[in-house]
Amino acid sequence: MVHLFAATHRSSSTSYNSSEMDYRLRQEEVFAELPPKVEALLVTHLPNIRYLSGFSGSAGALIITAKNSVLFTDGRYRQQAKEEVRCAQIVITSGSALAAGANWIADRGLSTIGIEAEHLTVSLHASLRHLLPAGSRLRDIRGVVESLRMVKDEAELQRIRDAARLGSSLIDTALAAIRPGVSEVEVAAEMEYDARQKGAEAMSFDTIVASGVRSALPHGRASSARIRRGFVVLDFGVILAGYCSDKTRTVYVGKPTRQDRQMYEAVREAQQAAIDAVSAGVTAGEVDSAARSVLRRAKLDKYFTHSTGHGVGLEIHEPPRIGSNQMEPLRAGMVITIEPGVYVAGNGGVRIEDMVIVKDRGCEVLSPASKELITL
Ligand code: ZN
Ligand code: ZN
Repeated sequence: MVHLFAATHRSSSTSYNSSEMDYRLRQEEVFAELPPKVEALLVTHLPNIRYLSGFSGSAGALIITAKNSVLFTDGRYRQQAKEEVRCAQIVITSGSALAAGANWIADRGLSTIGIEAEHLTVSLHASLRHLLPAGSRLRDIRGVVESLRMVKDEAELQRIRDAARLGSSLIDTALAAIRPGVSEVEVAAEMEYDARQKGAEAMSFDTIVASGVRSALPHGRASSARIRRGFVVLDFGVILAGYCSDKTRTVYVGKPTRQDRQMYEAVREAQQAAIDAVSAGVTAGEVDSAARSVLRRAKLDKYFTHSTGHGVGLEIHEPPRIGSNQMEPLRAGMVITIEPGVYVAGNGGVRIEDMVIVKDRGCEVLSPASKELITL
């Protein structure tokens, strides 16, 4: 079987390298965003470490000061850190990276430290207090790195486009696998096998294959349930070179009733209205309300129980949230999903999702695929 994707495209993440990303610039930018008294930023959230230094290992800490950047990790990651990290210094520790970082800070007499409180457990916070000299001040700088991460640079956008293209191609695999009597997990397995064959590092979340009444579960992970007549919601994504993709299509097994078709068309129209609303300067709330008002006209808005979308990048869910009353203005280079859905308990649900890149005017829909209701 020929995989068209592999034939026409980079098929493995190894063809990406850290030098495409300007980590030093990001380190300068994040330091400039800190409150003026902060002398050192201690980064502990792994996606933020990756964003700022290139390090993709699962244990580490990063310190950024006005003039320096140091990545702390342990011996398991010696070689990997050498290959990936763009910092002034890499320190390999025998104990915890956080403790080594705290000692480094203490040795230099730095007293006001920016920390990511939302990514630090109570126990790590306590040990940090213990390791730093009395009188050190810990300042919560939550959201500063995430805020920078919201707007993607060209190197990131390229990876995201590639991830979206790979992810999108899995819909064909799903369509080939779906038939009455096949279990949801079998469909998910075919999709995930195909994803890995095409070079995906991993799925960006547990593949959702929700059929029949289960399609009314917004997060209906693939189960042993067998597919019968009705809607099947497929929500899936891959990770490629660190970046996530996210897409949803809803198909129908059998002949849809008039009511089911109307429900599908309302969601499709709502999703298009939200996509049409996306542009730099528009608030996230306005995009959400574009989708919601279409569903209100169809008297289905009460079944739309989540927000319209979310940012996506190194993490599958990241800011901004595209929800009602969100005043965050969209900026060119943000990557967001548009995914309204309608879920009628005991009957079924429909969701349609695409990723878009916000542009100065309008947006770029990543891997557009037909949204006509596919019946199988
Ligand atoms: Zn999704
Ligand atoms: Zn999503």
